[in-house]
Amino acid sequence: MEQQLFEQFFRAAPPEIDVEAVWREWRALRSPYDINSRHLPLPVWARRSFTESGEQAWSILADDLEQFDPNKAFCIYIHIPFCARRCSFCDCYSFPLNRHRERHIKDYVGLLDQEMRLWGALGTLAQRPVSTVHFGGGTPPFLGADAFSRVVQSCQQCFQAGSHTEWALESTSSELTDEIVDTLDSLGFTRLHIGVQTLEDPVREHINRQEPAAVVLNKISRAVNRGWIVSVDMIVGLPGQTLGGLLSDLKTLAGAGVDGFSLYELQVSHRNRRFAEQYHLDDQPRLINYFFMQAASRYLMALGYRKTLFNHYARERDTNLYFTFPERGEDCLALGTIADGMFGDYHYRHPTYAAYCRGVTGVFPGLQGGLRRNALENRLQPLTTALMAGRVSSKLLIDSVGPILARRWRELALLAEAPHADDLHLTGSGSWFVGNMISQLVEQAPPG
Ligand code: SF4
Repeated sequence: MEQQLFEQFFRAAPPEIDVEAVWREWRALRSPYDINSRHLPLPVWARRSFTESGEQAWSILADDLEQFDPNKAFCIYIHIPFCARRCSFCDCYSFPLNRHRERHIKDYVGLLDQEMRLWGALGTLAQRPVSTVHFGGGTPPFLGADAFSRVVQSCQQCFQAGSHTEWALESTSSELTDEIVDTLDSLGFTRLHIGVQTLEDPVREHINRQEPAAVVLNKISRAVNRGWIVSVDMIVGLPGQTLGGLLSDLKTLAGAGVDGFSLYELQVSHRNRRFAEQYHLDDQPRLINYFFMQAASRYLMALGYRKTLFNHYARERDTNLYFTFPERGEDCLALGTIADGMFGDYHYRHPTYAAYCRGVTGVFPGLQGGLRRNALENRLQPLTTALMAGRVSSKLLIDSVGPILARRWRELALLAEAPHADDLHLTGSGSWFVGNMISQLVEQAPPG
């Protein structure tokens, strides 16, 4: 049955996809690496509970930040939870603002400003260089040009975020109006992540996208012509999606000058349950999503993109500084509702919107809780970072997990030798299972 599915799926695959290699990789999988058990990498706070309340975490961070090197760079993440409307397929934490839109935006921008001033007064944070400021969401441009500019100004006033900083944001194409794009340009933004998801117009209709593919492509081309680095998010597992359609999308976007692709599997949760029921997504074999991922990954590499993260494929100039801050050993100051950040080995998180709005005061940035990595998590941190980045040295692997698990991961074809290097790289299966690999690592790593 599964073999039939494989044959049907790859029947018309183009020569860029080595179908036999996909088959070998898939058939090498063994327990506990079951396609249906795949989960994404979990942050520390999701694997075990917070050990400190928000207030305690804030006090610990205030002490810790006194000790940090003022020359050490860090990155900033700012979460904007608002969207123009709720897309039926989306399981992100975001919501539309219909009533009292202006008041919500004004208040939220005020809270972010208050938070930045509090953090900026801690230790040496205001002196340290900022590598990147990344706005995620939600749809950050939904704030509108004026409110968005105020957030950027607060950031510039509180931290060393200037022309050396990579300014980046996520958006749907429909929020990228000429006015907002001009504003972003004048504010120094050079990097754009667009949630394209698919260019197949019938599939776009299923997921309630506002603009047809031709308009999206036009906006991408204009951003590319401004010299911006453009990265797109693509989803597999959408109703009506086909292999030919997905590969054609990737080719078209590559031809339009897209620098990077992030590949996601459609996640079903309470937030998009109705959509999943409408399209009977629970009846679809998840194996198909694995095949889509394998095909897309191999096709992007054939188009000249390199895997720079377990799910991101990039051309050379796409350095993607926010996604890669752990590799550079940087800290991350996260601001806004549900945003999670880390300084050294201390992790913290903000609560959901209402609690965040109530929690931020003149002396407290509304944190939900925090926890410090334990000795085992600290020892495994270089390896988990390397796995997330998609490549790992054999020595680091054996030192961290011991020879048995290291050999097992290679037998299961989760890791393979990288061409022309001593390192190992995450295969297509490894990219699918990286979250499970990290979980297995934490459960089975030999004591230090
Ligand atoms: S897909 Fe993007 S625009 Fe749509 S609801 Fe989710 S975060 Fe908002």
